[in-house]
Amino acid sequence: MYKYDLHVHTKEGSACGRSTGAEMAEMYAREGYSGFVVTDHFYTGNTAVPRDLPWEEWVERFCEGYRSAKRRGDELGLDVFLGWEFGLGGGTEFLTLGLDQNWLLANPDVRRMDPVTYCTKVHEAGGYLIHAHPFLEASYVPCIRLFPRLVDAVEVLNAPKGDFINARATEYALAYDLTRTAGSDSHNDRWHALAAVSVPCRASSITDLISALRNREHSLIQL
Ligand SMILES: [Zn+2]
Ligand SMILES: [Zn+2]
Repeated sequence: MYKYDLHVHTKEGSACGRSTGAEMAEMYAREGYSGFVVTDHFYTGNTAVPRDLPWEEWVERFCEGYRSAKRRGDELGLDVFLGWEFGLGGGTEFLTLGLDQNWLLANPDVRRMDPVTYCTKVHEAGGYLIHAHPFLEASYVPCIRLFPRLVDAVEVLNAPKGDFINARATEYALAYDLTRTAGSDSHNDRWHALAAVSVPCRASSITDLISALRNREHSLIQL
């Protein structure tokens, strides 16, 4: 089986990230992962990249955490993929997989999209959406918002979030027959709580990984 983390932050892309993409790659290699998806907080979330930059430059810098992780990951034999964590504000966040830098460059209006438009556009382009920790409770989360007809999957195992939040997410995913995923939401290279999806075949591209999720060939692992 091959372990992948679907929820990883870097210092280059996320204001709350504490380790570089390269350092994150080293942690995942140490922990025996096959790879991971870099999902830094996007423009409308806790991004590390100044929002007043021209869009092309913003995108370039936003992807730097991924590139750093990919460079080191290639040396270490890890599969590193680009994703991002799209924030609607108030703690509602969608992990977005399967789209690339060119899609971002071609869609500058992604900075101001409402959830219906965003999810529709992502799906039109072949992307995959996971509602991250949908039952998160925190000072910056005024209400719980669910979008069962807009997302493909629900993060039911967010390793650091605790049993109550994850149990509610599991009930939600089961009720709507949404795919269940896991992730560490890691923000540094000594992360205290790791999780993974385990898939039967190595993912040579993010498309492979998404196919495994769509076909529900994966299992969830807490490390
Ligand atoms: Zn964060
Ligand atoms: Zn996150």
